[in-house]
Amino acid sequence: MPAVVSSALADELAVLGEFDAGACMNCGVCTAVCPLGLDLLPRRLLRHAVLGMTERVQEESEAVFSCLLCRACEANCPAGVHIAEDVRLLRRWLLGKWEEAH
Ligand code: SF4
Ligand code: SF4
Repeated sequence: MPAVVSSALADELAVLGEFDAGACMNCGVCTAVCPLGLDLLPRRLLRHAVLGMTERVQEESEAVFSCLLCRACEANCPAGVHIAEDVRLLRRWLLGKWEEAH
């Protein structure tokens, strides 16, 4: 199924807190310094969230919950994105979706 882009995720995240990944310039520094070495985390994950690709983000929940919240990415982000807090918000959003479904 093709990915769907929507503003719904941004609206739902805004209810949970300040999701500031919209400031991301997609430079990739965060992914380069992340100790987990995942291609997805955090740059692509944030991009999918900003674009409102809800199904994609749900498919990527393992990466969301694998983040160490170490903030190495944040310390090097030229846009000052609060990446760890954004990951926390995505976790809360994913848990809410899980609760809705069970
Ligand atoms: S380092 Fe910051 S600006 Fe660059 S891709 Fe990561 S979140 Fe976006
Ligand atoms: S906070 Fe998460 S995404 Fe950022 S560098 Fe640490 S493990 Fe990677």
